Amino acid sequence: MHADRLARVRAAMADQRVDGCLLSVGADLPWLIGYEAMPLERLTMLVVPRDGVATLVIPELEVPRVRVDDDVFRLRPWGETEDPVAIVAELLGAASRAAIGNRTWAQFLVALQRARPSTTFTTTSELIGPLREVKDPDEVAALRRAAQAVDRIAAALQAGDIPLVGRTEAEVSAELSRRILAEGHQRVNFAIVAAGEDAASPHHEPGPRVIRPGEVVLCDFGGTMLTDSGAGYCSDITRCVVTGQPTDEMAEVYAVLHEAQAAAVAAGRVGTPAEDVDAAARAIIADAGFGDRFVHRTGHGIGVEEHEDPYIVTGNRRPLVAGNAYSVEPGIYLPDRFGFRLEDIVVATDDGPEALNRADHRLVPVDA
Ligand code: ZN
Ligand code: ZN
Repeated sequence: MHADRLARVRAAMADQRVDGCLLSVGADLPWLIGYEAMPLERLTMLVVPRDGVATLVIPELEVPRVRVDDDVFRLRPWGETEDPVAIVAELLGAASRAAIGNRTWAQFLVALQRARPSTTFTTTSELIGPLREVKDPDEVAALRRAAQAVDRIAAALQAGDIPLVGRTEAEVSAELSRRILAEGHQRVNFAIVAAGEDAASPHHEPGPRVIRPGEVVLCDFGGTMLTDSGAGYCSDITRCVVTGQPTDEMAEVYAVLHEAQAAAVAAGRVGTPAEDVDAAARAIIADAGFGDRFVHRTGHGIGVEEHEDPYIVTGNRRPLVAGNAYSVEPGIYLPDRFGFRLEDIVVATDDGPEALNRADHRLVPVDA
């Protein structure tokens, strides 16, 4: 699998006239070779020449972490007194164009630019992004497992098994995080808990606010679940509950959102431009008079990274292809009052969109 991915990267390099590809921290590297670089000041970098062997330049002390696959890459460990940038520059040779991972620390790019002044650097977004955004069946299965894990947490939330009233947002967030790990993820990526007026802030940071009866509680959470390939795949779900019975206004606003989200999920057919999925949700929300209260794009791609291509946003006219995996998460936010978002991960297939998240989509009153 990794050898196949490397071959596809090389084909893209030939296509785009890229002579060398450099991958460090970020999701490209685990996707390509199953190893995730440590985000530290000691450089880890895979050097992929268009022809010839790929080399992972890695701090000597981190070599035991690597599962080497001789068909894909070899190791070039560096000792504490060596200059890893010089090693990478040497391996890169006289490349006139090099693509560097778009999450690579700037300090390494700047040092490489100094070491190789005649090389033009681009990012891997256009090189590897288009490959990563089309998931193979194993990747879809990994996303499905991760989605089912957070579905179980959402079901516990909706069943009232996660106490809410009287606890702070931060406490509930910590419980969601514990459950994300207990359900088989290795990493918690986020666990937003936003109560009452805080739910009107889409990226609210859970804090000391105590959850009261009769409030909307918006929970948006996900993590990364490792697979045998060495790469982890992300989950991401949003469900809202009400601590008690929703007011008529809450019920009305939520009904609009629910309809909009379902329409956008259904719009995700192969060949449909990504922006049309966004438009499907936006039209319904705008028709109900909340157009200016839906303040973000409808969704983002998901895979080894929690946000990646394809983005479900106005202006992205690229048609969906089978294997695209993305979130559908419209929201309606009423400042100082409450807000709602409803999010599922969806995979485009030749048989139509498959929603990976199946947790109840209704606004569930909980007595918790
Ligand atoms: Zn989310
Ligand atoms: Zn999301």
